[in-house]
Amino acid sequence: MNGKYKSLDEIIRTYLQNKELLRGQSIDNDWWWASELGTCKRKQFLRRLGVPSKPKEWRISFLGEQGRMAHEWIARSVKEMGCLIAVEGELKDEKLRYKGRFDLIVDLNPGVITEPYYSLVDVKTQRPEAFFRRMRSAENDKVKRFQKMQLASYFYFAKQKEEFKFLKDARIYYLDRGGGVRDEFIFQFSKKIFNEILEELKDLNEYWTKKQLPPCNHNWECKKWCDIYKKECRELERGILSLEEFKNATKIKVDQNI
Ligand code: SF4
Repeated sequence: MNGKYKSLDEIIRTYLQNKELLRGQSIDNDWWWASELGTCKRKQFLRRLGVPSKPKEWRISFLGEQGRMAHEWIARSVKEMGCLIAVEGELKDEKLRYKGRFDLIVDLNPGVITEPYYSLVDVKTQRPEAFFRRMRSAENDKVKRFQKMQLASYFYFAKQKEEFKFLKDARIYYLDRGGGVRDEFIFQFSKKIFNEILEELKDLNEYWTKKQLPPCNHNWECKKWCDIYKKECRELERGILSLEEFKNATKIKVDQNI
């Protein structure tokens, strides 16, 4: 076979790789991201500093595309029902260096001018195993703390805009990719969580200004899903590697993986 590609899968993988490269070039890292709030501060700091994370497995890139498709058709359906107020809205706070992008704002009381009921929605598609593991978990663990913080931050910063003044609540809509099961959680956030978010941003900014690395948190995140290189993170902690050496060490590994 003399074709440029040996299989359909190779075409798709090349497409995803190109897309990932373009995304990498256009991405503006110089912010604290809503999706990382409540996670290891050191990891947030290193990501902002430009330390590369491990390349994604192909499987994860495929799932990412499926997730985007789900987001698109949900937004389309909401629009056709006359309930769509905003989609993929970017939120920024220059002073706090906060940046986030919410999925949807819907009006649950469409057509009523005097009493709209806006709800900010985060759509999360999950693999069946993850979806059902989450459903079986203890009640207060069904929505992870960092996901609540992400959602609460969207609500907090969106609510400050005149156009979204009718925001009344926020919700997470989990969607099982395998069997189409849904699970919806509605939140009326209190001041407490907004204060926690503002405190965390303040803390992160202090570390950033002082150019001081946040401490290693040694918790489940390191073991379970940190995509920073754990060995290098420990060496950094012990002073075996400088920050610059750390950046180079992780970069070389990423290049080799690609
Ligand atoms: S290895 Fe642990 S301490 Fe280091 S960045 Fe990752 S989560 Fe944070």
